[in-house]
Amino acid sequence: MPNLKPYTDQVSDAYTRFTAGMRTLRCPVPGCTLRIRYRNVTQDEAGRLTALANDHTRHSVRK
Ligand SMILES: [Zn+2]
Repeated sequence: MPNLKPYTDQVSDAYTRFTAGMRTLRCPVPGCTLRIRYRNVTQDEAGRLTALANDHTRHSVRK
């Protein structure tokens, strides 16, 4: 069985794990040092932070 869960299931699983401790998000763009750390946030807030971390255009300096 390939491990291809729907995104919402992945978020739910992650939420279960990180409620027990700190969670760190990193930007996927090479060279970008953005990190977001959080714990004990709501699932909505976690989703918002994940979206922010993955959206490089929202934290990069545009020229
Ligand atoms: Zn970035």
